[in-house]
Amino acid sequence: MKPFRLASREYRKEDSIVIIPATEESVSIGEGYCTIIAGPCAVENADQYIDLACTLKSVGVHILRGGLFKPRTSPYSFKGLGIEGLEIMEEAKKKTGLPIITEIMDIRELDFMYNTVDILQIGSRNMQNFSLLEEIGKVDKPILLKRGLSATIEEWLLAAEYVLNGGNTNLILCERGIRTFEPYTRNTVDIGAIPLIKELSHLPIIVDPSHATGKWKMVGPVSRAAIAAGADGIMVEVHPEPDRALSDGKQSLTPENYKKLYSETIALAKLGNKKLK
Ligand code: PEP
Ligand code: MN
Repeated sequence: MKPFRLASREYRKEDSIVIIPATEESVSIGEGYCTIIAGPCAVENADQYIDLACTLKSVGVHILRGGLFKPRTSPYSFKGLGIEGLEIMEEAKKKTGLPIITEIMDIRELDFMYNTVDILQIGSRNMQNFSLLEEIGKVDKPILLKRGLSATIEEWLLAAEYVLNGGNTNLILCERGIRTFEPYTRNTVDIGAIPLIKELSHLPIIVDPSHATGKWKMVGPVSRAAIAAGADGIMVEVHPEPDRALSDGKQSLTPENYKKLYSETIALAKLGNKKLK
């Protein structure tokens, strides 16, 4: 038996599929599906977010992202709109009928997120926040667990084990690049992690090419590489005016660039006989 027992392939031979309920059409995430999550790094204001959500919906997107509580390296950077931003996401959700994902940094945020948020994201910096993982394990809500900044595959799967061990089996992994000696990119994307996770675990795995590269021009090619390597989807950052974004503008696609990425990714998914919902 592997140290990550419940997350292991030995424990569960079939691929796990996580179903995200939605007002219009539920979204399935896992083997056989290709899920696209998109939205800005952070919710910045109502008009901008709702406009963008409607554009993304018209192009095609399965789940809307948006950061409300941003883990920022500097305490002086924009840290998100918090609860005020949640109301904006709620409105976008009502308008589009799409499910929403946002990062939970502290279990105390659950009280107000629970009724609105469809997927709770555990960020890279919190992958080994074991008390948060234990609490999240008790919640009946899908979880997206990002790989830690310098986490090995085993550490990541052991973090997943914390959530599964608490009873929450609606768990999706997200490869978002790891820190290496290479300074040209924000992180180094580990494409090999995808087939490895598929071999070691039954859990769905998606890739975040935005944080993995830090460069918007790399987001398209890395998205295609991820799908070709067997990822169950991608999560990308989109901003109407990347140059003016309050966070992560350099890695954000314009809606126009997103359109291109969407059609290329979907074409590849169809080649692999993947379903889109
Ligand atoms: C994010 O997706 O908003 C984020 C902060 O990513 P990460 O935790 O991977 O750095
Ligand atoms: Mn970001």
